[in-house]
Amino acid sequence: MYDIIIIGAGPAGLTAALYARRANKKVLVLEASSYGGQILNASKVENYPGIESISGFDYATNLYNQVKKLDCEIKFETVVKIDEERNVYTNKNEYKTKTIIIATGSKSRKLKLENEGKLIGKGVSYCATCDGNFFKNKIVAVNGGGNTALEDAIYLSDIAKKVYLIHRRDEFRGENKYLTEINNKKNIEIILNSNIIKINGEEKLESIELENSNNEKQTLEIDGLFIAIGQEPKNEIFSNIIKLNDKGYIESEDGVHTNIKKIYVAGDARVKTLRQLTTAVSDGSIAATMAIKEMED
Ligand code: NAP
Repeated sequence: MYDIIIIGAGPAGLTAALYARRANKKVLVLEASSYGGQILNASKVENYPGIESISGFDYATNLYNQVKKLDCEIKFETVVKIDEERNVYTNKNEYKTKTIIIATGSKSRKLKLENEGKLIGKGVSYCATCDGNFFKNKIVAVNGGGNTALEDAIYLSDIAKKVYLIHRRDEFRGENKYLTEINNKKNIEIILNSNIIKINGEEKLESIELENSNNEKQTLEIDGLFIAIGQEPKNEIFSNIIKLNDKGYIESEDGVHTNIKKIYVAGDARVKTLRQLTTAVSDGSIAATMAIKEMED
């Protein structure tokens, strides 16, 4: 019997593990893919108090190592179900625990176009810092208008020959400091008021088709397409017992309590106003503290 099972090894989950292990609790962290979560995709983190600048990869690795040094058990298994008795079922095992912290974060939103899934790893990517290096001196496009898309375009402009930055509206929601940098880059071409309507290619990505607000179409021949159109939750597996809002995020009372006693939520998976590293680690520390306080009630 564990004291706390934490589902997800991103910043929220690992921070919860850090607090729980420092309180000497028996902890298991379950992670479906790799540690770090979405922050792994950030080329630079410069808004985390006390750290002037760090890559997302280095930040996540430091946190992971910090938790591992506390002898925290971390298993790479996919959780498929939990129940009200706090049994946790994975693709490999079944565990019992006094408390659960859900820290499953969010996943990249898809364009939901034909060929998109088929061409992942063959030109289509959701992570510029992971895959950008495959496109040295090639032609790539970034789709999106938030900070991720702007950062990706800047990052890729130092690797690729040409970067198209495609956004569906006439203004970006990302920060001005990135836009200033983009405007100074000679190899970034901005295409506004346009949606990608088709992704073409059989063995690998060959081209994309765009349609603008005047219904005019154009085809761009590109080698890489980086889709950066935001995130969405991955909480479907909890919907049998946990209350989700209409967008699939977990409803939480006073931050981290879900509708089920002794099951908590931390980080991007929950309904919140700001999804950032700072708020994820804050949630992780509060969820662990609450779980420790309430586990014997
Ligand atoms: P985001 O801010 O939600 O932006 C998503 C963008 O994708 C929006 O411009 C949106 O267009 C567009 N979009 C959504 N669905 C689309 C669709 N189906 N087709 C085409 N375009 C679509 O997501 P994000 O850029 O991943 O950022 C997430 C959060 O992380 C934000 O709070 C961001 O500030 C933060 N972040 C911070 C940093 C940093 O501080 N260094 C870096 C990266 C991200 P509309 O604008 O028209 O809605």
